[in-house]
Amino acid sequence: MTVSVKNLQFQYKANAKPTLSIPEWQIPTGASVFIYGPSGHGKSTLLNILAGILPCKQSEIEMGGQRLDKMSARQRDRFRARHIGYVFQQFNLINYLNIIDNIKLAADVAHKKVSRHDITQLLTALQIPESVWQHPAAQLSIGQQQRVAIARALIKQPDFLLVDEPTSSLDKNNRDAFMQLLMRHCEDRDVTLLFVSHDEQLQRFFEHSVSLESLNQVN
Ligand code: ADP
Ligand code: MG
Repeated sequence: MTVSVKNLQFQYKANAKPTLSIPEWQIPTGASVFIYGPSGHGKSTLLNILAGILPCKQSEIEMGGQRLDKMSARQRDRFRARHIGYVFQQFNLINYLNIIDNIKLAADVAHKKVSRHDITQLLTALQIPESVWQHPAAQLSIGQQQRVAIARALIKQPDFLLVDEPTSSLDKNNRDAFMQLLMRHCEDRDVTLLFVSHDEQLQRFFEHSVSLESLNQVN
């Protein structure tokens, strides 16, 4: 899915200093793009806008030929359910539900029919050990929760995957293995990927990388 942004302007409160001002920016279909920048500079805000969670009417945001800025809140919700996978910084897993049920719930919300086999296949592909599939999400390690959050975003086969890097970072070996797994998965399925982080070192995993500072005219 091609994503194209023109004159994106966003502020949380009227008359406040804008958080984001992006004159023009494009993500080609199937590309993997990394945006880095210090915390507080608007990375999560940008993802929330592109996910259609935060409305951004004074902009042209085109996704797969459709104008996000012209949609109502309901239309954006439907568009997100169908096309967008979002891995939140805090994961937002349902702590008391087990892993399989967390993923099943995400598929249900997106009105996507999935079998148990579809779920276990994805869990296996993301190297989430079978021994934890029945465990409540809260009992998993951070690294495992991160993989489950990715599985939950991918189960509905999104065209566009947004990943907000968790603040609680993984150790280097686990992180590298995780990044390689994620990139391979997106490549195999032609998923357009936008990944944000404060950690510039992650640049090397991506086809394109850009600092938020160079995109955003508000500094
Ligand atoms: P990052 O993800 O790069 O750390 P954020 O997008 O979370 O940055 O935040 C960008 C700026 O917007 C920060 O100054 C933050 O305090 C502010 N901000 C974030 N969320 C809200 C909100 N819901 N209401 C008002 N200001 C917010
Ligand atoms: Mg953030």
